[in-house]
Amino acid sequence: MRLSRYFMPILKENPKEAEIVSHRLMLRAGMIRQQSQGIYSWLPLGKRVLDKVNAIIRDEQNRAGAIELSMPTLQSAELWQESGRYDAYGKEMLRIKDRQDRPMLYGPTNEEMVTDIFRSSVKSYKDLPLNLYHIQLKFRDEIRPRFGTMRSREFMMKDAYSFDLTREGAEHSYNKMFAAYLRTFDRLGLRAIPMRADTGPIGGKLSHEFIILADTGESEVFCHKDFVDFDIPGAHTDFDSVEGLQAIFDKWTSLYAATSEMHDEAAFNAVPEGDRLSARGIEVGHIFYFGTKYSEPMGAKVQGPDGKEHFVHMGSYGIGPTRLVPAIIEASHDDNGIIWPASVAPFDIVVINMKAGDQACDDTCELIYAALTKAGKDVLYDDTDDRAGTKFATADLIGVPVQIIAGPRAVANGEVEVKDRKTGARETMTIEAAINRFV
Ligand code: ATP
Ligand code: MG
Ligand code: MG
Ligand code: MG
Repeated sequence: MRLSRYFMPILKENPKEAEIVSHRLMLRAGMIRQQSQGIYSWLPLGKRVLDKVNAIIRDEQNRAGAIELSMPTLQSAELWQESGRYDAYGKEMLRIKDRQDRPMLYGPTNEEMVTDIFRSSVKSYKDLPLNLYHIQLKFRDEIRPRFGTMRSREFMMKDAYSFDLTREGAEHSYNKMFAAYLRTFDRLGLRAIPMRADTGPIGGKLSHEFIILADTGESEVFCHKDFVDFDIPGAHTDFDSVEGLQAIFDKWTSLYAATSEMHDEAAFNAVPEGDRLSARGIEVGHIFYFGTKYSEPMGAKVQGPDGKEHFVHMGSYGIGPTRLVPAIIEASHDDNGIIWPASVAPFDIVVINMKAGDQACDDTCELIYAALTKAGKDVLYDDTDDRAGTKFATADLIGVPVQIIAGPRAVANGEVEVKDRKTGARETMTIEAAINRFV
């Protein structure tokens, strides 16, 4: 991508409305734009990051056996009347009437709709277990939308829903998502700790929130500090192994970790004092097992091996991609801007032409840009005629992991500089060596 032809509206000044660093940096880097309170457009740079986050989420959901579909944002109130949640949900639900005066709503979550899909076509235990997910916009009319996309009214959620014949089966489905979540957050460059959580309006019995420790987090959390260094399940984890997944769950729940709603002071005090971590955190994911809470009122049942009908045991599993992007920035930035983990960086490499219009600089940059693009890298080429200082500041701000800098003096020697955004380390090398390092 040539910056001269891209759309990346950088802000020079710090936006006054932004209270936390991620919000400030997302606005300054031209990643998002607020359209009305708590409702955002994702501008091209932000969209790239969001897409990469979603690709990792999708990959790990698929690995764990979940199946993607797409459900609409607008839902009929009827389904919610069946489950009893239409009246219970309260003011967070955006209620809409269509031209026939039929009550509709902008979905805040999808338990009812997915249960309806399930009951219309699954009739036998032989079709279980089943886990269906989508990545879709949600709307919750939050009392206090704030911190940019961290708590917005319209936001994206990956929500998965599992269906099993028995409670034991449902626990295995729960453990699959538990392990998939550990892997997902790890691939996003984050350390998320599963904590015992309240089940809230979704309801249910077994629930964990995945929390990232951060001073700007809205949750108050308490946990054993060893979780910060626990091993993440590997790529070869066998998601069909009941024992294997139970062992992962048991290990990751063996020490104290709870959000303030579930906090048990006495149990926490039993943790040796030096191991106690009392901190603030960001909820980036939340998983629930809620048994037959929706299948009973909505009549979602299958025929079991005994020939009788059974209400299915369900769970739901949410991750917030549009919250994860700022959460990653909260965890990874410096005074100059964002430092993206390579896995979600909007571009892999930025090529900086320090003197656009200088033939040797232009030729060198074009050569590098073409070679790296051909090798499948996402390359941003800063070919604008801005001052070199402005280009450096922009490259640091947008946090691309690698900068290749071509200035007239180095280029005259057949060389460029390669800078690592995270460490700031710079290395001068031949043009060929710079290309070879990344292809
Ligand atoms: P919170 O406690 O922050 O209000 P929640 O518990 O209401 O979140 P869930 O119903 O558990 O949210 O939804 C699953 C995930 O969706 C959350 O873990 C979070 O990552 C994301 N999410 C929820 N509400 C928002 C929001 N207003 N803006 C952005 N992401 C959100
Ligand atoms: Mg909420
Ligand atoms: Mg919550
Ligand atoms: Mg939650």
